[in-house]
Amino acid sequence: MYKSIVIGTGPAGLTAAIYLARANLKPLVIEGLQPGGQLTTTTEVENFPGFPDGIMGPELMDNMRKQAERFGAEFKSAWVESVDLSQRPFKVNVEGVGELLTETVIISTGASAKYLGIPGEQENVGRGVSTCATCDGFFFRGKRIVVIGGGDSAMEEASFLTRFASSVTVVHRRSELRASKIMQDRARENEKIQWALDRTPLEVVTHETGVKGLKVRNNETGEEELIEAEGVFVAIGHTPNTGFLGGQITTDAAGYIQVKPGTTETNIPGVFACGDVQDTRYRQAITAAGSGCMAAMDCEKYLEGHMVHDWSETLNK
Ligand code: NAP
Repeated sequence: MYKSIVIGTGPAGLTAAIYLARANLKPLVIEGLQPGGQLTTTTEVENFPGFPDGIMGPELMDNMRKQAERFGAEFKSAWVESVDLSQRPFKVNVEGVGELLTETVIISTGASAKYLGIPGEQENVGRGVSTCATCDGFFFRGKRIVVIGGGDSAMEEASFLTRFASSVTVVHRRSELRASKIMQDRARENEKIQWALDRTPLEVVTHETGVKGLKVRNNETGEEELIEAEGVFVAIGHTPNTGFLGGQITTDAAGYIQVKPGTTETNIPGVFACGDVQDTRYRQAITAAGSGCMAAMDCEKYLEGHMVHDWSETLNK
């Protein structure tokens, strides 16, 4: 039996693993389908303190993993199918491994890219439709690209994709962008980026050779337009990865785990949540890492018997 199992290996899970391992609790860390999490699909991380010249996302995550291993964290490259938190020890059901027993669980499964749900989108994922510029941008060298969304992700993706594309058009459903000023400014200064604001995406249109473009509604005139492009990148935010919990942990309406304010405690004592899976507000690598540290410290206190109260009654169900 394990003292603690950490599920998910973004900055939150890996930081929790470093702290647990240094506390000699020998955590098992289950990596999931995307080891290293979302940062492995970004390029340079400019705002993680301690790296004045920036650091590549995959390198940062690799460093965190090595740091956790150095102190004795055990890693399993596998996928958690389900958990049983109704009895103690808790059961964590891992694909290809079976049922593992643990006294505590740290959930740091992050969030996954959202899709629009419009015709032509799902059937063309990998054939012109993508949610990851760093993964797929290379395939659109010299081609026209549409990026959908008005947040920081869309600005970042659009700016990055200008390295490859002949032109990038940002399509956003409102006339005002949601993105931070610095990210907006950077994108607006980029001559390769064009803007199709106040346009609602309707359909990814294809022809024999692949994606032909994105059909949108001009919200001002009500008219439909086709923005021609070979690539469509969807950058409209993320959904928390909480499906495997089977409703045993209290979440908000969008699926984000609810934690006791100022802590990482979930409604079940001994189960903690950190990183994007419980964060609807900050969603930064550094805040995820910070909450991973908090989860490990909450977990240690719990294992020492200092945190035995149940606060689940106070949650909004
Ligand atoms: P976000 O801020 O939630 O923005 C999502 C965008 O997609 C919004 O503009 C939204 O439109 C649009 N959208 C959502 N659903 C849509 C739909 N069904 N159809 C059309 N458009 C839709 O998500 P994000 O950009 O992924 O950013 C998430 C968090 O990560 C933010 O806190 C952000 O600051 C952070 N982030 C930071 C960086 C960085 O600092 N380097 C990079 C990326 C992300 P509306 O505006 O109309 O709602």
